[in-house]
Amino acid sequence: MSKAPRLTTTAGAPVADNQNSMSAGPQGPVLMQDYQLMEKLAHQNRERIAERVVHAKGWGAFGTFTVTGDISQYSKAAVFSDIGKTTELVSRFSTVAGEAGAADNERDVRGFALKFYTEDGNWDLVGNNTPVFFIRDPLKFPDFIRTQKRHPRTNLRSPTAMWDYWSLSPEALHQITILMSDRGCPRTPMQMNGYGSHTYSMINARNERHWVKFHMKTQQGHAHYTNAEAAQKIGETREGYQEALFSTIENGQFPKWTMYIQVMTEAQAEQTPFNPFDLTKVWPHGDYPLIKVGEIELNRNPDNYFAEVENAAYSPSNIVPGIGFSPDKVLQGRLFAYADAHRHRLGTHYEALPVNQPKCPVSHYHKDGQMNPFVTKTANPDAYYEPNSFGGAVEDPSVAEPPLKLSGSAERHDHRSGNDDYAQPGALYRLMDKDQQGRLHRNIAEAMASVPEEIAARMCAHFDKADPAYGAGVRQARADLSERSVAAE
Ligand code: NDP
Repeated sequence: MSKAPRLTTTAGAPVADNQNSMSAGPQGPVLMQDYQLMEKLAHQNRERIAERVVHAKGWGAFGTFTVTGDISQYSKAAVFSDIGKTTELVSRFSTVAGEAGAADNERDVRGFALKFYTEDGNWDLVGNNTPVFFIRDPLKFPDFIRTQKRHPRTNLRSPTAMWDYWSLSPEALHQITILMSDRGCPRTPMQMNGYGSHTYSMINARNERHWVKFHMKTQQGHAHYTNAEAAQKIGETREGYQEALFSTIENGQFPKWTMYIQVMTEAQAEQTPFNPFDLTKVWPHGDYPLIKVGEIELNRNPDNYFAEVENAAYSPSNIVPGIGFSPDKVLQGRLFAYADAHRHRLGTHYEALPVNQPKCPVSHYHKDGQMNPFVTKTANPDAYYEPNSFGGAVEDPSVAEPPLKLSGSAERHDHRSGNDDYAQPGALYRLMDKDQQGRLHRNIAEAMASVPEEIAARMCAHFDKADPAYGAGVRQARADLSERSVAAE
């Protein structure tokens, strides 16, 4: 065995005794001068950092992205430049609503976040395992999340709050249908798809823009738990996802996903019967076929969960030349909210933490602040503002995006007016076979069991509009459930 290093204080001074605190006599009180004791207790008090308000419980691993398809006609991004090219990445999967100690196998949307360490900076694709979301206006995000969290008085999750909000927000129906379907309870992180969810843009070498959606399809196949199976699993272990992801990779079986894009021209986007920037809508595959881009493989477990998963800070604002944003309102809101959350949670310089550090040169003029690890590496220490005459970093106009024409009046446009919230959930419902529809009806009936009748009725009216069989199925499942509970009394 190699010789163990000498134990020290954080200031590097050697420690003589790490078993006994210093006291006045063997039974006596400890002395203030035992700084080693003070330091240990003070550090322990500070071991926890602020929990993420959403996506608090997570599981992550490192891996690679390999290009398998040429999409240079759409994007000049270096990450897509050559077939066979690989880029390192770090992934984080998560549940949305539960706290950091929540059970992994609960029914919930899963976060699906990827950080690609490209030569032009970090590209973060921060999506979910669903192609849509509950809201289409970021103004509603705090309200929606409030309904997923604990009631202020009971300190319990409140199905009444959830269904009350959803029944008053028809745009949520599509995502509710996915959440309550088989796909709402994936067995492991490896057995689910990932989606960029928002519409993004790609810019090619001719500086032309296309709108795109990202899809990551699991190569392990989909596998889900029913509510009863999930309850049994949670009874056996609350850490089902962590165990599955960690042990799979540790055993050398590396999970993979195929990345695809859907592409829409700017001209097409002006003619779609739906708003292509609406986060509650998919782009039908028949009209916008999937184009294969590459393969994601996870092949290395983190050495330290806190440093490499808890500290991993993803933000959709992290894009690179060749990939851009879109007018999607919720994406626009997230561009602010994610980086802001990390500054609050991890500090001003969160991008300098090892897991977040870009693997390319970084040159900016942000300065000072708490825990600033930067050493200014400009040619001259006088170059601490811009423009300067001392060789400081300069802008690169070659990466400017083409202008995006926007028009319209500045006002609070009613996002619910003239929007079809029922056609796509209806299409999804009709895609399910009878067994899948039956489980969907039962899952909804169980989730709504304690909800006041008025709210349940309002919600069923939305199911009716998606498909009359959907509404009828949920009503029947509710009746069956109350019959069973009466019989059990
Ligand atoms: P398609 O028949 O071409 O595609 C249907 C998609 O539905 C497939 O990608 C399939 O994913 C996915 N799917 C199947 N069961 C479920 C489920 N329980 N929950 C969520 N997704 C499921 O039809 P369209 O493209 O015209 O879309 C029809 C409906 O399918 C949409 O309204 C939407 O609800 C849903 N959908 C569409 C997606 C899209 O991007 N177009 C993506 C995901 C869902 P897979 O191939 O991986 O099995």
